[in-house]
Amino acid sequence: MKALVLLSGGVDSATCLGLAIHQFGKENVVTLSISYGQKHTKETEAAKKIAAYYQVELIYLDLAKIFKYSDCSLLTHSEQEIPKESYVDQIEKRRGKPVSTYVPFRNGLFLSSAASIALSKGCSRIFYGAHSDDAAGNAYPDCSNAFNEAMNQAIYIGSGKQLQIDAPFVLWSKAKIVEKGLELNVPYELTWSCYEGGEKPCGKCGTCLDRATAFEKNGVSDPAMNVRY
Ligand SMILES: [Zn+2]
Repeated sequence: MKALVLLSGGVDSATCLGLAIHQFGKENVVTLSISYGQKHTKETEAAKKIAAYYQVELIYLDLAKIFKYSDCSLLTHSEQEIPKESYVDQIEKRRGKPVSTYVPFRNGLFLSSAASIALSKGCSRIFYGAHSDDAAGNAYPDCSNAFNEAMNQAIYIGSGKQLQIDAPFVLWSKAKIVEKGLELNVPYELTWSCYEGGEKPCGKCGTCLDRATAFEKNGVSDPAMNVRY
């Protein structure tokens, strides 16, 4: 059995890749890195390094054009500031609407694109690292378990029952993902999560704060904070 892993370059997807390789063997794993027009290329550079580390094929896809009508703060043409606060604070202000760093239906597009490529590459599983912290408070509704189940069903039916989604962390916290990743020796020093494209992670954006907490809860310091990019 072959698996295609969506590899964004962050902690969740790197752990997902580690898990897929553990289950299927690296010769049966293909990775897909998708650019969506974000303000910097740190994540895609990280994806390249992680795929090289594991010696697996990396397919690169640019979906930036689809998002050119959005003013999401992560996108290169947007003048909106990326919020420098925790997701809990952001969710409270947004009152049930997705956070401003939600890219419109991004995971829907990513999974559909992945499904098409997975079928062409003879894969029967798509692995991706959605987790419950991101879906909490409706911050990123396209990371939720309900969304995942619906997409899984659509892909399963639409592929003639050849392909399924495996989202092993969909009910997990980021801390639990890091715990698993440490067990699997995932090269976290190669990952990039920060929404800003600085030399080092900013330490202040929602995803930086989330990531720091996840490592702290496991009693280790984040290896990516000590690396120069
Ligand atoms: Zn940051």
